[in-house]
Amino acid sequence: MPAPDELAARAAAALREVAGVRSAEDAHRDGLTGLLDGEALHGTLAEAIRNAERDGGHIGLLFIDLDRFKRVNDRHGHVTGSRILSHVAGFLDDAARQAEGFAARYGGDEFVVVLPGADLDDSLRHAERLRANLAATILAGGEPPRRRPLIRVTCSIGAASMRAEAGGDRDETPSPAGAATRLLQLADNAMYQGKHAGRNRVVAAGAEATGVA
Ligand code: C2E
Repeated sequence: MPAPDELAARAAAALREVAGVRSAEDAHRDGLTGLLDGEALHGTLAEAIRNAERDGGHIGLLFIDLDRFKRVNDRHGHVTGSRILSHVAGFLDDAARQAEGFAARYGGDEFVVVLPGADLDDSLRHAERLRANLAATILAGGEPPRRRPLIRVTCSIGAASMRAEAGGDRDETPSPAGAATRLLQLADNAMYQGKHAGRNRVVAAGAEATGVA
């Protein structure tokens, strides 16, 4: 028999669900994929950077954009497109958790994976594995019982990493929130280089592209 407090919490949660009220945690989750949303990402990343500062460690970040995703919607419809986005989100979430990190939906068809402890080489290795595994995966779109098209998607990934250092030169060292913005920008810029270089590839921030055309 659950304790009275637990019963009360369950009843409150059930009432919120019936009333359509989102819990504080749900309010930071993207409705389609269940991942952290873009707004929550920034704060959670800043917190991860703060933790890395304490340990004097690295933090890696992958900025992931699906290649020509609009075509999936145009060819197969929006329902299938959304289903594919959910599949991809689950795939990224699994990969991030295995690396003791987390994934977020930055917006539309853009995702971020944060990798605590990962330097640039580690981040590139994770990114390349993700890219190759996604490109080799066949995803089922649509909703049963309708015929479900089998779809392959690829992505372009920008990888960045920083060494978080507390203290240092106060004028030079950005705050965790500033560092989060900077890391996102670096990885985003690298991702765009990957798009320009032909898509389905990994680009390291400030370095040459690796991966496969
Ligand atoms: P699209 O629908 O032609 O949207 C192109 C770009 O317009 C999006 O790029 C985004 O930058 C902007 N945009 C469109 N709708 C909105 C909106 O409601 N809010 C905001 N803030 N921006 C919007 P993005 O995000 O890279 O998406 C690329 C393509 O991916 C979209 O082309 C669409 O075909 C597909 N897509 C994005 N989100 C979803 C989704 O939730 N479900 C499905 N099925 N497709 C999606």
